[in-house]
Amino acid sequence: MSEVCALFISDLHLQPAHPATSAAFFSFLERHARHAQQLYLLGDLFEYWAGDDDIADPFHAQVVAALRALSDAGVALYWIAGNRDFLVGARFAEAANLTLLPETWVADIAGLKVVLLHGDAQCTQDTKYMEFRAMVRQPAWQQQFTALPLAQRKAIVAGLREDSRKAQGGKSYEIMDVTPQAIANVFAQTGAEVMIHGHTHRPALHHVDGKRRYVLPDWEPDATPPRGGWISIDGQGQVRRHDLSGAVIDP
Ligand code: MN
Repeated sequence: MSEVCALFISDLHLQPAHPATSAAFFSFLERHARHAQQLYLLGDLFEYWAGDDDIADPFHAQVVAALRALSDAGVALYWIAGNRDFLVGARFAEAANLTLLPETWVADIAGLKVVLLHGDAQCTQDTKYMEFRAMVRQPAWQQQFTALPLAQRKAIVAGLREDSRKAQGGKSYEIMDVTPQAIANVFAQTGAEVMIHGHTHRPALHHVDGKRRYVLPDWEPDATPPRGGWISIDGQGQVRRHDLSGAVIDP
């Protein structure tokens, strides 16, 4: 088997209440990510992130230590924010020794031009969410928010998650997916031949006008059937989808 260049994961939604997901994540880091050159975290690693001062939380500290151990072992770590953990900042990045990337990033991986993103910005039919996103991604809003006491921020975030759960119940299936036009725009603007994103929790490989769009799964090892997995790119530029055991899903 050819050497693994890069691995990609997203949407683990790590939280203390879901220990099986954390266990699967730590196992993935030890058994798989450690043998890669690069690991890309493409958003929503955490169920929520109220600000970098929450790094002292024992659960968060455990995750940071695991990422740090991986980077200390020589794996380069890259981060693209999700809609749950977009408040991750420089302090977290320094502690985990990872590189924060902008929301759309084009990487050359084994000669393959790959565009990486979380995917929430491409759900353009969800106009309410797009308005919210435009607000909370502003540095001024983030400065104001992170100036609030941590406990208050956590309470606000918990309220938002509850609102989001209710809102999603009322939305059509289609509106929660990326729109074809937004995807076409990303391909046109970047000239990439491959796209990898998460967010929609609809793992797939789509062929779009001669280009490939890979969608990462969310992680829930306790579900029936278990959900989770990752994407790899090897030294020959071969892209593969893997399930939680590491087995390759359709060629
Ligand atoms: Mn998401």
